[in-house]
Amino acid sequence: MQRIGFIGLGIMGKPMARNLLKAGYALVVYNRSRPAMEELLADGATLADSPKAVAEQVDVVISCVSDSPDVEAVALGNDGVIEGAKSGLTFIDMSTIAPATARKVYTALKEKGIDALDAPVSGGDIGAQQGTLSIMVGGEEAVFERSRPIFEAMGKNIVYIGEAGAGQVTKACNQIVVAMTVQAVAEALTLAKKSGVDVAKVREALMGGFAQSRVLDVHGKRILERNFQPGFKLNLHRKDMNIVLQTGRETSVPLFGSAQVTSMMDALLAQDQGELDNSALATLYELLSGLS
Ligand code: NAP
Repeated sequence: MQRIGFIGLGIMGKPMARNLLKAGYALVVYNRSRPAMEELLADGATLADSPKAVAEQVDVVISCVSDSPDVEAVALGNDGVIEGAKSGLTFIDMSTIAPATARKVYTALKEKGIDALDAPVSGGDIGAQQGTLSIMVGGEEAVFERSRPIFEAMGKNIVYIGEAGAGQVTKACNQIVVAMTVQAVAEALTLAKKSGVDVAKVREALMGGFAQSRVLDVHGKRILERNFQPGFKLNLHRKDMNIVLQTGRETSVPLFGSAQVTSMMDALLAQDQGELDNSALATLYELLSGLS
């Protein structure tokens, strides 16, 4: 069995790493801050003190960190994967980053004989815990096929999309749909609340009809229960919308809805709400509607 390294043990990375351990893989982990590493040590992982040290010990390195500069630092920076990897290593980035950065990382690693895949995920913290993530993959198809058993330990819907960067383009599309669906659910439930109608019953009715969605289910419940602990942080979703809008500009595609919901996210970030779950979009609707 291949030996795997995992870098970035946050809300997503920690349960994903645990699922690899459960599947029987020997795991070497690195996290920038210490506490998450201690948890994985208790679960049976080996600790390393840098991405370079991870790469020196394994056949496959997975990263799940925050943003494009973070992936660049982990993969190509000082003490990065590129410094510790032997030729033939596979680097799989499962963060959500700009397609252009994914292509840059792919090219830089390829020059050193390292294969790279961009493999962002959807399904949230619940999908990460349950091993039911949707995984969208860019890179060489042969490298994808060779890595399929690793993806199967973390996800259920595993789709090879195309060449390097194609996974991240897919994730940008995913984030458009999620952002505007969260907005639609927040808007609808605010209207119900201001109209004096039972919001829980509205959600229940909508769940059985054409408006049914995972967002109405999970985020609708969060809004009802006032549970805005992440989940998926608003500042990370705002980061993804930047990738969406940037990709729209690069391809000359007008993204009217994305621009609007991004401005709503900005209004919440201006109130220091970026660490809340993205379902907290509802609180802005409530404020603007005189409900809070
Ligand atoms: P998170 O809880 O904030 O975790 C981020 C992780 O990245 C932490 O382990 C952090 O280390 C590490 N990190 C950040 N910058 C780093 C750097 N420069 N060098 C080394 N490590 C660094 O975020 P998350 O929710 O797990 O999200 C991770 C990625 O998955 C993001 O790209 C996000 O957009 C994507 N994603 C998230 C969800 C979701 O529902 N949460 C769903 C799909 C995709 P520290 O512990 O030291 O801060």
